[in-house]
Amino acid sequence: MAAALPYRGRFAPTPSGPLHLGSLVAALASYLDARAHHGDWLVRIEDIDEPRSVPGAAEVILEQLHDHGLLWQSEVIYQSQRKARYQQVIEHLQEANLTYLCNCTRQQIKARGPHYQGYCRERQLAPGKHAVRFRNNATINSFSDRLLGLLVVDAEAAVEDFLLFRRDGLFTYQLAVVVDDIDQHITDIVRGADLIEATPWQLLLWQQLSERQPAFAHVPLVTDAKGRKLSKQNHAPALSAQRVVEQLQQACSYLQLPLHGAKTRGDILQQATVAWQRRWLP
Ligand code: GLU
Repeated sequence: MAAALPYRGRFAPTPSGPLHLGSLVAALASYLDARAHHGDWLVRIEDIDEPRSVPGAAEVILEQLHDHGLLWQSEVIYQSQRKARYQQVIEHLQEANLTYLCNCTRQQIKARGPHYQGYCRERQLAPGKHAVRFRNNATINSFSDRLLGLLVVDAEAAVEDFLLFRRDGLFTYQLAVVVDDIDQHITDIVRGADLIEATPWQLLLWQQLSERQPAFAHVPLVTDAKGRKLSKQNHAPALSAQRVVEQLQQACSYLQLPLHGAKTRGDILQQATVAWQRRWLP
């Protein structure tokens, strides 16, 4: 058996705006987990959906992480620079007969049900401006989460032939995230619970593209007073450089990490690492 890789974690924000408290919680959890394991922590900018990327947001995010003392190792990578690699992986999956072309519109899919039901699977469309879907034959329904235990996802979502490439010419997040995590030798993926449902799809891609699998850990989402996930759409306030200590304290409180009177950034990160270690590391 191959020797286990050294621990490597990452935070992979989409640069659609500045970080808010919800994104700080995800960033901090993955940072603390890496630190508790004496491993590396990387930052990757997930700007593959270029129309969603806001100019200047990546720089703001990196500055915000820096302000909060969340310092990464190695160079930051940008998905927008890696399209040739994603194309190569799609071709590899195509050769293995694990993809098919699809020209369904969003409206057509929606009219047939909430999930895509394999409409184009056997249609063998001639090459053109089509989407590429993954032929999901070996569906995975559940996975073991390091923090939450065994998670079983919605069966109809799990069987979906998810998109690898969109009709509008963009590689999808599902494809890019897996290719990057493999290429960057990520061993532990710690992120927000909104990605639980996508994890079985990503595991399927891992199975096709790598000899190993990462461990997953999902942390609770921060919600507003109405129970909605904090997001730019809900006008979640951006993290402020003037309130670093308070924001770190709030993020630790969401993660249920007790702090014993820590009042500086360095002390908070130190105490939170110990608390994380006690709580989650065997
Ligand atoms: N880029 C994704 C987001 O900002 C996170 C991807 C991940 O952590 O796997 O929601």
